[in-house]
Amino acid sequence: MKEQHWGIKVEKSNGEAVRKRLIALGMYDTEFKPVCEDDFIVFPVVSEKESSGEYIFEKRPKKREPARHELIGGIAVMQSDDPGEAEYLLESRPVIHTVLYSKSPVSGEYRTKDFVVLAGENTTKTHYIEYNNRFVIDLSAAYFSARLANERQRIYSLIEKKERILDMFAGVGPFPVVLSEKASVIYAGDINPGAVALMKENIELNHKKNIIPMLFDALDLKGIFSAHSFDRIIMNLPMRSEEFLEVAFSLCKKGGVIHYYTLQSEKGEMLDTLGRYTKGRICEKVVRSYSPAQHHAVYDINCL
Ligand code: SAM
Repeated sequence: MKEQHWGIKVEKSNGEAVRKRLIALGMYDTEFKPVCEDDFIVFPVVSEKESSGEYIFEKRPKKREPARHELIGGIAVMQSDDPGEAEYLLESRPVIHTVLYSKSPVSGEYRTKDFVVLAGENTTKTHYIEYNNRFVIDLSAAYFSARLANERQRIYSLIEKKERILDMFAGVGPFPVVLSEKASVIYAGDINPGAVALMKENIELNHKKNIIPMLFDALDLKGIFSAHSFDRIIMNLPMRSEEFLEVAFSLCKKGGVIHYYTLQSEKGEMLDTLGRYTKGRICEKVVRSYSPAQHHAVYDINCL
C-alpha cells in the first residue's frame, strides 16, 4: 500500500550516514520503506522538519508472530498442517532450514513420529546445540526432545563424584553426553539401531571417551551386567518403563539412584508401585506438561 508522507531526500553517497543519524534522533519512520530516485534516496521521517518534503512511500507489511512451533536446531515443528504459515515461519527465522508437521503423536517401540515437510529442505535431520554440547538429530529415525534440556542439567547438578551410570533408553544419547564429564563410565543403550548410530556420531562430535553405546533390549540387561553395578540409572521411557523396574532395581547399587520417568494424570501415581521395590527415599517432580490430562513426571529413587 502506498501513502503520502514526510521524507528527507539525500544523495545516495551520504545515505548510510543520514539513515544512522535519523535513527539516533528518533526521526526515522520504520513504517515505510525508503524510496530511491536516481542518485538520491528519500528516508521516511516521523514528522515535518525544515529539510523535509512530501513523498509517496510504500508501507512495510506489518510483522506478526509466526505460528506456534517447537524449534530443534534448524527444524521447526508446527502444530498445524499449514504450508502457507510454514513458508512465513521459514522467512521470519533465518536459523530454520525446514518446517515440519507431525502427522502422528510419539508412537511405536522406537517412540518416533511421522512427519511431513511443509517448507524448506526435504529432511528431518538437523544439528542442535544444548549447553555447549552438539547433537545430530534425525526426528523420523529416533526420538529427541529439546524440552528435556533443563532436566538433563538437573541430573548433572545432582552428581557429586565420578559415577558408573546406565542409561537404559538412551536414544541419540543426550543424557550420556551431558552427564559424561561427571561419570567414570556410562553404558548407554537403545533398542533402535537408528538411535544407536546417531548416538555414536554424537559421542564422537563431543569427543567423549567414557560412553559405551550399545544396541540392546533393556529387558536383557540382567544377562549383560552383574547385579548392583551402577551408581545411577536413567529410565526415560515414559509410556511403559514399569515393566523394566525389576531389572533396574537389580542393577542399582545400594545407595545408588534411579531416575524413573513416567506420564501420569495425578501426582504420586507411581509411589505405591515404587515402594514395593525400595524402602529408600523417593522424590517426585513435574518435568513438563504433556497434554491437558497428563504430565511428564520424574521420580528420583534412592535404592537401599
Ligand atoms: N533418553 C532419550 C532422550 O531423552 O532423548 C530417549 C528417550 S525415548 C522416550 C525412549 C527410547 O527408548 C527410544 O529411543 C526407544 O527406541 C527406546 N526403547 C524402547 N523400548 C526399549 C527397550 N526395550 N530397550 C531399550 N530401549 C528401548
